[in-house]
Amino acid sequence: MKCPFCASSDSRVVDTREVGDAIRRRRECQDCEQRYTTYEQVAKVTLLIVKRDGRREPFDRQKLFEGIWKACAKRPISSQQIESMVTSIESELYTLSKSEVPSRVLGEMVMDRLRQLDDVAYVRFASVYRSFADLDAFQREVEHLTERPPDERCVQRPSASTSETDTRGGGAESETNDTHIN
Ligand SMILES: [Zn+2]
Repeated sequence: MKCPFCASSDSRVVDTREVGDAIRRRRECQDCEQRYTTYEQVAKVTLLIVKRDGRREPFDRQKLFEGIWKACAKRPISSQQIESMVTSIESELYTLSKSEVPSRVLGEMVMDRLRQLDDVAYVRFASVYRSFADLDAFQREVEHLTERPPDERCVQRPSASTSETDTRGGGAESETNDTHIN
């Protein structure tokens, strides 16, 4: 680390703290005595998702969000809940320390979390995802399911519902043809 003022590489750490995923350090140059800040962060590798047909594509958290969001359509699940699910899946993916992860593994991570969050979204995702080889078919089926009247829609356990309101807003029917989980 070179001092931004005098380019000396001799510094002393005067303060260390965590800022999000990073470590922030205040340093004092041992030559000119100016202070400066450095951040230390894990370098993220490009993670590839291996699809069933062998194609690879870079992991894209937005695509993952959209895939889960579709399964949660019209359920009492906020976008914040989906966002934190995506964050947790993303960190689990990086914990695997692999450069390639099969889409099946990603699908299982989604199902593990949906199971704990909402029975209907889980059943919808699991039953549909497990029997379709590609996500386009999955999305058509999800759209079909959400068009049915509520009593036919899915298995529903009364205790599974909460009073939380739907905060996802519009755009539920927007078309995204590729949402990662295929
Ligand atoms: Zn200096």
